[in-house]
Amino acid sequence: MKKINRRNLVQGLAGFSGLAAFASYGSLNAWQGKADVILSGGTFYTMDPALGNVEAIAIRGDRILAVGSADDILDLKGQSTRIINTAGMTITPGFIDAHSHPLFANEAVSVDVDFRTIPEVQEALRARAAVTPPGEWVMGHMYDDTKFVEGRPVSRTDLDAVSTGHPIFVRHRGGHTGVVNSMAFDVAGVTLETPDPPDGKFYRDENGFTGRIAEHALDAFLEAGVWPTVDRAVNQENARLITKRMMSSGLTSTTDAYGETEEWQTYQDAYHANELSCRISFMPSGNIYAAMKAAGIRSGFGDDMLRVGAVKFSADGSASERTMRMSTPFKGRPDDYGILTMNQEEIDAAVDDAVAHGFRIGIHANGDVTIDMVLNAYERVLADWRGPNPRFRIEHCSLVNPDLLQRIKATGAIPTPFYTYAYYHGEKWHEYGPDKMEWMFGHGSFLEYGIPVAPASDYTPGPYQPMMAIQSMVTRRDPEGNVWGPSQRISVAQAMQVCTMNGAYASFEEDIKGSLTPGKLADIAVLASDPHKVDPDTIKDIEIVRVMLGGQSLYEA
Ligand SMILES: [Zn+2]
Repeated sequence: MKKINRRNLVQGLAGFSGLAAFASYGSLNAWQGKADVILSGGTFYTMDPALGNVEAIAIRGDRILAVGSADDILDLKGQSTRIINTAGMTITPGFIDAHSHPLFANEAVSVDVDFRTIPEVQEALRARAAVTPPGEWVMGHMYDDTKFVEGRPVSRTDLDAVSTGHPIFVRHRGGHTGVVNSMAFDVAGVTLETPDPPDGKFYRDENGFTGRIAEHALDAFLEAGVWPTVDRAVNQENARLITKRMMSSGLTSTTDAYGETEEWQTYQDAYHANELSCRISFMPSGNIYAAMKAAGIRSGFGDDMLRVGAVKFSADGSASERTMRMSTPFKGRPDDYGILTMNQEEIDAAVDDAVAHGFRIGIHANGDVTIDMVLNAYERVLADWRGPNPRFRIEHCSLVNPDLLQRIKATGAIPTPFYTYAYYHGEKWHEYGPDKMEWMFGHGSFLEYGIPVAPASDYTPGPYQPMMAIQSMVTRRDPEGNVWGPSQRISVAQAMQVCTMNGAYASFEEDIKGSLTPGKLADIAVLASDPHKVDPDTIKDIEIVRVMLGGQSLYEA
């Protein structure tokens, strides 16, 4: 008797049942056991060592149906299967960012000024001023004072040349400083006689205000005048814009590493309007954390597009803005060891409370002193732990040493160090010095100790682009040619592992993403060239040709 294989059987059924069955039971391709889309040709990095050499990939619905030789996969071609020729290209899993702040920039009402010349900043702001009612604030974001070819920051007079009829506020991408124009000072009621506020500064020189303002000096401006309205619709537009930008850089999953009720609501609105281009792991804090606990919601709640991740706490200062708490001082500031924002009792209590409510935990700890305190709390809870390892997270985990590395390994904790900082923020690392930089953003050390270090941009402070991340982790070289912590360099293959599988592991989603394994979500990036084969200092320039999210091509170059 002839053996009827499954494919013959479902093809027969489809032919017999006709279109009524087809309409109610899914696509014709599914009925026939065929693929909806096939990518064939090029170099595949599946990130799954069990799969061996792959020449093509078949997708059905939002999942990977099969991978294998071109011949085998083309057997899965049905009447309506779309074949995409990827010859000469490089195909990888969609990249993952395990720590960012997607809504921080307010993309919908603010102007992106991530430029390298001051006239470009002025032109972008001028275009916005032209459509803004006189007297209302014009906002810019992604400003970085150290990046201009002019070799100087944007000044008050540069912004006066944009408009004298609008107050202008340009926020630094780090979030702690800004630049404003003369009308902004008028609107805020700040004059040359106004003293600096406590913990803040209006910078001055021989010509009066430079326009630079820092820390609590920002408040006087943010609280004055008429700001653009940011309502639910604007927030939803912010989510649409930023997830689209992130996705077109090759990211298919990101993590909002600090969200309250407004952010959670924003992602829900964008998701249900079908406007999220990137999957979101949401780390709740503050009011939404309290509300979720009260509702009995736990980490893991949600679906493949939007899921509750670990609760977020923050225990010390910043790496790029040079305030993290360390056991040794900053260079040139012998009395400055940085700042803590939680004490040991507070950290212990936060961890106990999260565990009691079924939440995973991520605590921001940059300096070695803070990482030690966070590990104390994790070790204490793990002493009586039953069940699978809870993958406690240490957000940033910037400055380590062999003792901390051993404890991180022993606890199964997951560090999320900045993946673009060595390249992008080079000019800031002089304040740590070369010795300390051998132990900062320690991707090399983490991998050497067998720790599944996660990929993290911390956007907006850090760029999220995964190609820049791979270059930064591989070269540790900044644009001036300084190499920061060369002992922490990792290979291209390791960097790709960090940005895919390790990202999935950090959110407990390694069963559905992070590799091109059949059955997983069809989240795929197609690159114009192979990061292994180009000059490592040009990896960041590799063109993203196509990005697929759940089998849909959301981006095509
Ligand atoms: Zn962050």
